[in-house]
Amino acid sequence: AARNGEDGVRGYTPAMRQVFLRRFQLVTQFRQALDTGQVEVHYQPKVALPGRQVVGAEALVRWSHPEYGRLDPDEFVPLVEATGLVDALTFFVLECALTKVRGWMDRGLRMSVAVNLSVHNLADETFPDRVAEALRRHDVPPQLLTLELTESSVMADPERSLPLLRRMHAMGVVLAVDDFGTGYSSLAYLRQLPVDEVKIDKSFVLGMGTDLADMAVVRSIVELGHSLDLLVVAEGVEDDASREQLIEMGCDVAQGYLITRPLSESRLEAWLRARTR
Ligand code: C2E
Ligand code: CA
Ligand code: CA
Ligand code: CA
Repeated sequence: AARNGEDGVRGYTPAMRQVFLRRFQLVTQFRQALDTGQVEVHYQPKVALPGRQVVGAEALVRWSHPEYGRLDPDEFVPLVEATGLVDALTFFVLECALTKVRGWMDRGLRMSVAVNLSVHNLADETFPDRVAEALRRHDVPPQLLTLELTESSVMADPERSLPLLRRMHAMGVVLAVDDFGTGYSSLAYLRQLPVDEVKIDKSFVLGMGTDLADMAVVRSIVELGHSLDLLVVAEGVEDDASREQLIEMGCDVAQGYLITRPLSESRLEAWLRARTR
């Protein structure tokens, strides 16, 4: 029989109530979190294969919540994406990222930075002009900015997103398809997207050492990417065996815990100094 207690009336259990409360708090507190320094950007370097040269870094957002501690973007980014605040998030990360690239340039390092976009950004007509403005203001060439987008965010509304992507591509910004291989219209649409880079989803890269099917998927994405003249990046490279296999397949760039975990700004700078000494 259905419970009919205080919480049972609407079918909510105390545990569900906790989850909803936490989500509600995260959504309502995010704006203030951005403004009070609780949100910061970490960076995960990418290296050119077969060597060790650092070619860029991906910007990954982190939230140190006063009550809940360090929050994973997989928990709060989807919540923020459901609100108008995702625009503020993207531009917060973009500002941090462009400041970083400018700093590298000033020290003679040529490294690009990659920023993750949300589906909302790709439906916003003003987005490309605001990216162009930020690049000008930071005096960063567009070639040093990569924007990572998922196939599903593009395909949510291709008639809106494709013109935006074409404009940014024409500006010289590098466009990458993230989590590639997880969507199911991949091959047919990839040809039509104005993109320069494809990132093999980490689930395949993580599995390639133990699962022949994952290995085959990785190999075919590398081949497909190259046949379309795209730069192929593997994320989730955790061990030397995978790195060796990726080199043998001709994969261009690697990112993953084998190289380093995402690093705070200060740890990144120390890591880069140790590398380039
Ligand atoms: P993503 O774009 O696919 O980012 C790669 C994720 O894989 C990161 O998780 C990274 O820490 C993790 N990773 C990197 N190397 C390895 C590895 O060798 N092994 C394993 N197991 N994992 C690895 P993270 O930082 O937790 O980010 C999760 C997701 O949150 C990202 O997935 C991205 O979709 C989203 N995200 C992060 N930052 C932003 C942002 O600024 N804006 C938006 N819209 N989304 C973001
Ligand atoms: Ca990404
Ligand atoms: Ca990814
Ligand atoms: Ca992802």
